[in-house]
Amino acid sequence: MTLNNLNFQSNYLNLNREFYDINKTTPLDEPYFISFNPTASALIELNEDSGSDPLFIELLNGTHIPKNVRPFSMCYAGHQFSHYASRLGDGRAHNLGSINGWHLQTKGSGETLYSRTADGRAALPSSIREYLMSEAMHHLGIPTTRALGIIGSKTKLLRNNIEYAAIVMRMSPSWVRFGTFEYFYYLKEHDKLKTLADYVIVESYPHLKDDEDKYFKFFTEVLEHTANLIAKWQGIGFCHGVMNTDNMSIVGLTIDYGPFSMLDDFKFGFVCNSTDKAGRYAYGEQPNVAYWNLTMFSKALSSLIDQKRMDEKLEAYGDFIYSNAYITVMREKLGLIKNLEEDQQLITSLISTLQDAYIDHTQFFRALSRYDGERIPIFELAMNPVPFDTWLDRYDARLKKESTTQSKRQEAMLQTNPKYILKNYMLKQAITLAKRGDFTMVETLLHIAQHPYDELPKYEKFAEETPEEHKNITLSCSS
Ligand code: AMP
Ligand code: MG
Repeated sequence: MTLNNLNFQSNYLNLNREFYDINKTTPLDEPYFISFNPTASALIELNEDSGSDPLFIELLNGTHIPKNVRPFSMCYAGHQFSHYASRLGDGRAHNLGSINGWHLQTKGSGETLYSRTADGRAALPSSIREYLMSEAMHHLGIPTTRALGIIGSKTKLLRNNIEYAAIVMRMSPSWVRFGTFEYFYYLKEHDKLKTLADYVIVESYPHLKDDEDKYFKFFTEVLEHTANLIAKWQGIGFCHGVMNTDNMSIVGLTIDYGPFSMLDDFKFGFVCNSTDKAGRYAYGEQPNVAYWNLTMFSKALSSLIDQKRMDEKLEAYGDFIYSNAYITVMREKLGLIKNLEEDQQLITSLISTLQDAYIDHTQFFRALSRYDGERIPIFELAMNPVPFDTWLDRYDARLKKESTTQSKRQEAMLQTNPKYILKNYMLKQAITLAKRGDFTMVETLLHIAQHPYDELPKYEKFAEETPEEHKNITLSCSS
């Protein structure tokens, strides 16, 4: 398919006008091409060379509106840092509709009914970050929205500095958030809430459509997807930074990339969002925050489902659903196939070992993936290697209980523990160059993002420990 004959569907527009606003996009000045992602274009059967079609810039910039498309922005609310905001919505995003079940959305395409006092724009740095990171997360096996491409412009924005505006074309199987449900709950519009639940079930949980207990099962599945997502974040060392309920996907995806970060040295209390002074969204808090967000979500569903039943599920999240998901992730990272009760202890002691050792999270697991009893390569990575001696004794003892061979274990672990992740300092370098009109590093990082487990001799430097002066970079929501 070419950009000229994309065929969009817009089922969301069949809902009542309170769910969205139809509004025009506002094009950027002097738009230019930055990057196109053929891996994502394949999902909508769009030709892989569409990035060189002049229509690509026009589609992202809103100067080419495909037939049948009426751009719209979705309405939602949400708890931001625990405070309820009664109306948020897509303040800078326009939905074009869906192709093959993927909803395409331009982010940064101008003011909408939901912009409040903001400008409806997205700055080049945060746009490059979202474009690259969503792709990296996908290739790391973490549920996420995707991105088709990105354009830049000469439109100036006032942020901490003057920045230029960009637009990313994002793609997701659903853009509905916990906060979409909260919007109708707090307005006491329970009919509309039911309509929304039915819409989401038909679109994203169709196997529940005719189930007598569909709303409860829907809640259960959202809870399980969320638990699995957060377990994967914890396993890879991803910090979202703004886990407000409006940034919680109804299908359990990573959405709305803002001041995110991958861990450098393992640090349970690491906070990547510089505006989050209390550390509400610290790395180690993410499973608890997800629980809190699910609790808010359950409240929003309370006109459809007996709250007691949801409370029991929430209790189960706290008791075992999350911890089982997390142990599953960690067992895979440790190359353990058997499911033994002692694994929980092994993992807990690993976490405190990592915390004490001052060790790069990614490099540690990659080194462990080649572990053959020789401890020096691991010791060499840690500023304080001492705690590893005891932990590796435990790990050796645990490995003896496995029946797989060492080489099979190593092979599996090398496909689980990435060599390459995108760290903030790398993204920062790509952004600095992009501001000068050089997008080669955006392409390099896109390539790395798509090959996290491979050996890429040309890009060895991106697998090294983060240089000390670039560790623990924090960003604000507006950056
Ligand atoms: P976030 O936490 O970044 O996902 O955004 C929170 C809310 O603020 C959402 O409703 C966004 O649409 C809105 N928002 C963020 N930045 C802007 C902007 N520059 N213009 C309009 N709305 C914005
Ligand atoms: Mg958001």
